[in-house]
Amino acid sequence: MNDYQAPVGLLADKVILVTGAGAGIGAEAARQYAALGATCILLGRTVAKLETVYDEIVASGAPEPAIIPLDMKGATPAHYTDMARTIEEQFGRLDGVLHNASVLGNLSAFEDIPDDEWLEVMQINVNATAFMTQKLLPVLRQADKPSVIFTTSSVGRKGRAFWGTYSVSKFATEGMMQVLASEYENRAIRFNCINPGGTRTSMRASAFPAEDPMTLKTPADIMPLYLYLMGKDSLDVTGQTFDCQPK
Ligand code: NAP
Repeated sequence: MNDYQAPVGLLADKVILVTGAGAGIGAEAARQYAALGATCILLGRTVAKLETVYDEIVASGAPEPAIIPLDMKGATPAHYTDMARTIEEQFGRLDGVLHNASVLGNLSAFEDIPDDEWLEVMQINVNATAFMTQKLLPVLRQADKPSVIFTTSSVGRKGRAFWGTYSVSKFATEGMMQVLASEYENRAIRFNCINPGGTRTSMRASAFPAEDPMTLKTPADIMPLYLYLMGKDSLDVTGQTFDCQPK
C-alpha cells in the first residue's frame, strides 16, 4: 500500500475530518485529500495554522474546506456532540475521519512523569479521540462506506523506556481501533491504524533533537497509505494496523 497511486478524483464529494490539520502529517493529509476532491474539515487548536492550510487548499482550486478550531485538551463530550450536529447540519454525513492530532509529552522515566502531564497526554491522545469518535458515529453512519483512521506509533505496539505516557496512549489507540473494528465487523464503517514511522515534523524533532531531519521521510512521502485507507480501494480492510515505513 506504500506505493499506492491514488486515481484522480478518488475522494470526490467525500467529506473528511482531519484532526491536527494545521501542521505536520495532518496538514499534508488534508491538502492531499482535498486535491483528490474531498471537502476537508480542518480541526486543530491553532487557528492561524488552520487558516494557512485553508488558504493553500482554496488557492489550489480544490473544494473549499471548513475549519473547526478546537483544543482537544479542554474539549468535553458535549463539544463533540455539538460538532457532530454541526457536521450533520452542514454536510448531512461524514465519509472519513483521520485521527491525527496528538502530543508527545516529555520523555522521562515512568517514576518521574508528572501527574498533570500524564493526564494531559491521555486527555488529548485517548479521551478526546474516544469521545470524538463516539459522538461522530451517527453522522459516519449516514455515509456510504466511511473510513476511520487512527494514528499509532511503533511505541504503541512495543513499550519503550522513557516514552511512558505517549507509548501507553498509543497502545490505547490501537485498542480503540480494534474494539471499534470488531463491533462494526460486517457493517459499513471501517477502522484502521497507521504508524507513520519517523517523519520530518516538529513532533519528531522534539523527540530526537540531535537527529538530522533531512534523513527522514517527509509527510508527503508517506501519504500513499493515508490515501489508500481513505478511498474506495480499501473497502474490505478493517481492524488492521499499517506501517508507512516497514522495517
Ligand atoms: P505535529 O507536527 O506535532 O502535529 C500535531 C498536530 O496535532 C498539530 O497540528 C497540533 O496542533 C495538533 N494538536 C496537538 N495538540 C492538540 C490539541 N490539544 N487540540 C487540537 N489539536 C492538537 O506532529 P506529527 O509528527 O505531524 O504527528 C501526527 C501524528 O503522527 C501524531 O498522532 C503522532 O503521534 C504520529 N506519529 C508521528 C511520527 C513522526 O515521526 N512525526 C511518528 C509516529 C507517529 P498545533 O500545530 O496547533 O499545535
